[in-house]
Amino acid sequence: MATRKNKKIEVTVIGAGLAGTEAVYQLIRRQIPVRFCEMRPNRTTGAHTTDLFAELVCSNSVGSNLPDRASGLLKEEMRLLGSYFMDVAYKYRVPAGNALAVDRGAFSREITRYLKGHNLIEFVNEEVTKIPEEGIVIIATGPLTSPDLMKSLEKRLGEGHLEFFDAIAPLVSAESIDMSIAFKGDRYGEPGKGDYINCPMSKEEYLAFVDALLKAERIPLSEMEKSERKKYFTACQPVEIIAESGIDSLRFGPMKPVGFADPRTGRRPYALVQLRQDNLLASLFNLVGFQTNLKHGEQQKVFRMIPGLQNAEFVRLGQMHRNSYINSPELLEPTLQLKKDSRIFFAGQISGVEGYTESAATGLIAGLNASRIIQGKEPVVVPPETMLGGLIHYITFSGHKKFHPMNANFGIFTTDGKLKGELRREMIIRSARKKLREFYDKI
Ligand SMILES: Cc1cc2nc3c(=O)[nH]c(=O)nc-3n(C[C@H](O)[C@H](O)[C@H](O)COP(=O)(O)OP(=O)(O)OC[C@H]3O[C@@H](n4cnc5c(N)ncnc54)[C@H](O)[C@@H]3O)c2cc1C
Repeated sequence: MATRKNKKIEVTVIGAGLAGTEAVYQLIRRQIPVRFCEMRPNRTTGAHTTDLFAELVCSNSVGSNLPDRASGLLKEEMRLLGSYFMDVAYKYRVPAGNALAVDRGAFSREITRYLKGHNLIEFVNEEVTKIPEEGIVIIATGPLTSPDLMKSLEKRLGEGHLEFFDAIAPLVSAESIDMSIAFKGDRYGEPGKGDYINCPMSKEEYLAFVDALLKAERIPLSEMEKSERKKYFTACQPVEIIAESGIDSLRFGPMKPVGFADPRTGRRPYALVQLRQDNLLASLFNLVGFQTNLKHGEQQKVFRMIPGLQNAEFVRLGQMHRNSYINSPELLEPTLQLKKDSRIFFAGQISGVEGYTESAATGLIAGLNASRIIQGKEPVVVPPETMLGGLIHYITFSGHKKFHPMNANFGIFTTDGKLKGELRREMIIRSARKKLREFYDKI
């Protein structure tokens, strides 16, 4: 292998995005030389517009900064673990209320300048099209991983273990559903019993809902996304597109009320929205058939018109976009190593997390664990009681019917069900802080 200032390079990090830059930083701060590969600007992703590292492709907000919010707790944990992403984000913070927003140009320029000039880093400005055969490799090529690398990953990981496009329905916390309106039950099942939660609608409610859905603003799709969607998701139409095809399309499609009676009236509702359990704990439910491309604010407004969801807490909103990610529950250890080849790590959005902070957070753990292997130590698993550990547990735990990427939220934790709302959240935060401190003292 090549050497860097007389030190053998044993680690390659692919992708200079949020996960890759954090992973590289964690290695060099432990004096480990790295080969760092990035394809831009020679090859572009279609969303990035600069040649800078750690480019924020869309919003300049990296989420809530409040200590009692999931994203705030994740940030607190990352700071304790010595996150570079956090240091630079706070350095270039711009006013944004309770959110942490950054001057995106200054943020990315600083990270690029520091890492490109570092004497432990050999920067390779090339597209990587297959996994290097030697040394430890961290794959952090993001949601827009180049097609040639995706092909090669598919060959290596096996067919059906890679997703190219994400069409997800919103996810709500169970405790925020108003069960005095919504009811449990399966289609044609015994009333009051069953796996689904159902939100019944009268004719007036349905017509008002469809009207609002059609008027709501959508996220424009890029040409590439339009063609990818055609290729992979012809059968998976956004709910607003189904609504466009006729006033009754939804009630004969995903909002079909047949086989149900509203317990309040004993009669079949005019339409009905079904919610399906999304995690083993039954703390999260997704809106069945509600893949959507509406703007996030619009989703909250329109979907809260569904009876029973008027106060819903949306822990994840619907999306339809190009998103390359692997089937982590099947493929990854909670150390972020590939089960079949422990020298390979995945981090960032390609590992199945969603969001800037979450991507950097998994980069931190991949970088930390790669360093530990080089130092002759065992890789570590972050305690699942922490926000970061809970997130990694979620993406590497094989209890999902269909795995979709996940962001930091309180619904991913298993609690005994005795505490609800604020009290549950406080208990999770207390336990996360304690466990993270213990973890920090150990590493
Ligand atoms: C259009 C879009 C908008 C988004 N908006 C937001 C948002 O507003 N807020 C939010 O929290 N999250 C957002 N996300 C989700 C996600 O948080 C970001 O994509 C985030 O940047 C992911 O971090 P990452 O490090 O995994 O990937 P990236 O930051 O994308 O970094 C991956 C890097 O790998 C490089 N690369 C890819 N393939 C190769 C290859 N074969 N060889 C070498 N280099 C390669 C890419 O050029 C890129 O620099 C968005 C995603 C997309 C696609």
